[in-house]
Amino acid sequence: MRPFASTIPIEDARALLQAGAHPIARREMVRLDEAAGRVAAADLASTIFVPPFARSAMDGYAVMAEDTRGASRERPVHLHIVDKVYTGSVPTKTIARGTCAQIATGAPLPDGANTVVMVEDTAIVDHDHVAIRAEVAAAHNIGRKGADITPGTLVVRRGDLLNPSRLGAVAAIGCSELEVFAKPRVAILSTGNEVITPGTPLAPGQIFDVNRYTLSAVATAHGCVVEMHAPARDTLHDLHAALDACASADILIFSGGSSVGDRDLLIDLVAARGGQVIFHGVAIKPGKPTLFALVDGRPFFGMPGNPTSCLSNAYIMLVPFFRASARLPIYAPRTVSATLGRRIVSQAGRHQFYTVRLHGEVALPAFKGSGDITSLSQADGYIEIPSDQHIVEEGATVDVTLF
Ligand code: AMP
Ligand code: MG
Repeated sequence: MRPFASTIPIEDARALLQAGAHPIARREMVRLDEAAGRVAAADLASTIFVPPFARSAMDGYAVMAEDTRGASRERPVHLHIVDKVYTGSVPTKTIARGTCAQIATGAPLPDGANTVVMVEDTAIVDHDHVAIRAEVAAAHNIGRKGADITPGTLVVRRGDLLNPSRLGAVAAIGCSELEVFAKPRVAILSTGNEVITPGTPLAPGQIFDVNRYTLSAVATAHGCVVEMHAPARDTLHDLHAALDACASADILIFSGGSSVGDRDLLIDLVAARGGQVIFHGVAIKPGKPTLFALVDGRPFFGMPGNPTSCLSNAYIMLVPFFRASARLPIYAPRTVSATLGRRIVSQAGRHQFYTVRLHGEVALPAFKGSGDITSLSQADGYIEIPSDQHIVEEGATVDVTLF
């Protein structure tokens, strides 16, 4: 056993993680239909006008505004309908004084017409005459050519998150693929002689691998692509081989063996590879035995083996790290205010992330133990208890960060 000489406060760990996360530089082309949630790697300028032609914004009649002067319900103006223009068609007639074209929303405005009277302000007279019952100024109910976008308009800027509206703008200019930043590749590997993959029979002394699945889900949800590896045994030889198998990953996440026991070998692996330890041991509960290092210039995490410690730290430390690496905006989880339903005693000297279940506005403690995944899976969120606070009384108002 080689006890932690010291631990660092969570705030310091966060600052070191922020400094250690490098936004991905690789780029790739993606099809528009696969670009949701990606980050644009280049400015994208339009080469066309949107809309590409002047169009009606209403169902009604394309007219010359002058012809509507003085028109009212009592004194309608009768116009001769010379054309019907539907969407997707091209008008064939030019509108002259005394004439009009029936027009659909989105259909091209015929030459000569300079305004549209909406159908509600008209009445059919006979099959080729309409009564205009309101005066309409020029340029009414018309979408100008290029009103939305003109050639040269940037519809997306480098670094923009491709949310639904930006995808819509890309589609509007007719672009079917665009350049985005690659997703960071995250290698996830569980370590431990006892850890086996779900779906295989459990021999005495063995447990199923939980961390690989929780960590993968977090990485995928926050902009990364995951390569999963089979669990590795607790020997330096096997850990070297496991690390060698992660050659193409940008970020390495190992779990288990990150603490200070005889068989906790991740720190030895980092040393054997000439890596640089950035921190080892954080003053939090759960999740103290967490290792962050650089190995071959790549970020290397040794996450606690205990599933709740591992996942709790994934939320607290890895989510910001993944998002910075993937160039995604900062993630602000939702918080709600609640009343604590039972007194909590917290360990002095460690910032505690304590899981709770919500019953209406009452938060009940849900934390069982660091090794119990149900401490998290049966909770709705967590409260934070600073290291200098020992007790949170029943009835206290607490802020619950929701998962
Ligand atoms: P360690 O951090 O390796 O000392 O492991 C701490 C505890 O977590 C032990 O009870 C391990 O059996 C357990 N553990 C380690 N890795 C995993 C894993 N991938 N899934 C579930 N439990 C694990
Ligand atoms: Mg272990």
